[in-house]
Amino acid sequence: MNRRKFLKLAGLAVGLSIPAVSGIWWLSNRGEDLPSLDTYAREPWQTSPASEPVLVIINEDPVHRFGRFLPEILWAEGLNAFTTIRLVDASSQLLDKYPCILVSSGNFTSVEVEMLANYAGSGGNLVVFQPDNNLSAGLGLRAATGTIPEGSTIADPQHPLASGIKTLPLSVHVEAGLYPPDGAEVVARLDDPEAHPAVFVKRLGSGLVVAWAYDLAMNIVLTRQGNPALATGADNAPAQRPADLFNGWIDFERMRYPQADELQRLLANIVTWLCENTLPLLRLWYFPGAARSLVLATSDAHSNTFSALQQITGLVEQYSGKLSIYYTPPLTSDLGLLKLQGENLGADLGILPSPYFPTPEQLATLRSNGHEISLHPFIDETYINSWRKYWNAFTRLNFGPISQTVRTHNLEWRGWADAAQIQAGFGIRMNTDYYTYGSMFYNGANGWFYGHFTGSGLPMHFADNDGRILNIYQQVTQFGDEHFYPLPWSNDDVIGPAQGIDLFSKFIQSSLDGNYAAIAVNFHSDPYDLEDNWRQPAIDLLNGSLNTAYSLGVPIWTVQRWLDFTTMRQKTRFEAIQWQDKKLAFDVVSEKTSKDGLSVLIPQTNKLSELRLVKVDGNPATFETWKVGGVNYGLVKLETGSHHIEAGYFE
Ligand SMILES: [Zn+2]
Repeated sequence: MNRRKFLKLAGLAVGLSIPAVSGIWWLSNRGEDLPSLDTYAREPWQTSPASEPVLVIINEDPVHRFGRFLPEILWAEGLNAFTTIRLVDASSQLLDKYPCILVSSGNFTSVEVEMLANYAGSGGNLVVFQPDNNLSAGLGLRAATGTIPEGSTIADPQHPLASGIKTLPLSVHVEAGLYPPDGAEVVARLDDPEAHPAVFVKRLGSGLVVAWAYDLAMNIVLTRQGNPALATGADNAPAQRPADLFNGWIDFERMRYPQADELQRLLANIVTWLCENTLPLLRLWYFPGAARSLVLATSDAHSNTFSALQQITGLVEQYSGKLSIYYTPPLTSDLGLLKLQGENLGADLGILPSPYFPTPEQLATLRSNGHEISLHPFIDETYINSWRKYWNAFTRLNFGPISQTVRTHNLEWRGWADAAQIQAGFGIRMNTDYYTYGSMFYNGANGWFYGHFTGSGLPMHFADNDGRILNIYQQVTQFGDEHFYPLPWSNDDVIGPAQGIDLFSKFIQSSLDGNYAAIAVNFHSDPYDLEDNWRQPAIDLLNGSLNTAYSLGVPIWTVQRWLDFTTMRQKTRFEAIQWQDKKLAFDVVSEKTSKDGLSVLIPQTNKLSELRLVKVDGNPATFETWKVGGVNYGLVKLETGSHHIEAGYFE
């Protein structure tokens, strides 16, 4: 074959193969479409296999529609030894097996009232929430004489069940019934002029009834997720942030402590006390090991360079921490992507300088060092289409896999829980969009305010507006960096890194002191791509904040690691519980879906006897004295997985 012929043939081959090669390239670089995964958590009556000693009965009342959140409260408080059923499935025979029963708010038929009254009257311990007139009459309580639309719960420090609970007013964002005390023991009062009971205990036959004057589950959901009346529904509605749902509810004094969590701990105290005659009620600690707080380090990164990501992860690593990077991928055309890939290849081969955007290999290195990289989508068209566009861009650049936690750019939200519902459908399992930012947090001469604006430092599932539980946790971001140093594109009034570090330190100290909280913080990556005068304040804020956490022994985690721990903790069960001759034996049944071990809380006293000996899987184990909401426990640290535990009490 002569040269001319060869060239002709080669030209033909190339001409034929270019469409084929470019077709293959196009097919393999299309990126992913949005996945379609489970939006809702399993119904609570389907998830909890029979466990004792607590029974939760859910009244599927359309008005008191958040009954399903009662089990979520018990799980958040670590009181995992319970079973959930629906009211329609309840029977006297079943109720009699349980020493303690919680029934969610709603209307009750006369048959249901009789069943509950018989249970309590014959030695049962029943907790009810805003009982209607029929249930009140059946349980020997006087009917409410009226209601107040909202108010406060004020715990009585003299009452043993309220000891350890904040005595400052705890907000109630739902209507409360005005029940005449009628000789009941009052644990907490409302703030109405007559100080009606908010929580009270009354004897019925040989049993006890504890009544809350309001629908606690609904109050916790609203306190956490905001006012449904302020939600904008339409997908093309103007930008709304989750914090906007709290307009009118922001109270700088009360936000100093997690009000919703305090109410949950009051319920936990009551349930623990009601079970005491039957057995010491087991509990799981909120955090891994003996940690009393946790820092979740996150970084919103708007198409930043690998150098920026390297600098910031390097700083976080100095404090044994790991970082969640929420990254906005650049949107590229086919040609732009091809160019990027060429530059990445050149850089990998060492013949071209490192490209502006990180390469998939560089991101893989960050991941293998324990950092998380997930999506930071801009909402620049409809909510779902924006998500589709950025999800596709991220995966098209081979920046994936996208992890299960997220923060949306500009914190854009939809509806009351619509955004959470949409994200859950994409497999996002923990959302950090509830974030302290915006004019509502400006406290005039006192500067920016930081506090528990959702009333909580604990992650819990979102509920939708019908009360169904969404398969996604809400993790508030208490601490953003916007207010602490200037950025070229921001007009925000800033107070400087020193005050930021001071505020952050106070948050951590407050958690260590009993306002237990996972504290999520956002350190933007953007300043690390700017000149020193912009970058240095960001470095100072990060160093000062994380050094405080590190020196106090507070772990610094990614949000994904916290999600893994939280999910594993909620699914953990106490089984085969036996209480005999002052010996408590039980199994902790737990999957190894997190690398971090749980800690079990065993009540330190039972009547006159005291916890002195603990064995884990047959071996003597140490325990630390621990206090939650006024109850003393022995805290036993466990490796991941299932264990058999024995605890001995002595007089
Ligand atoms: Zn952003």
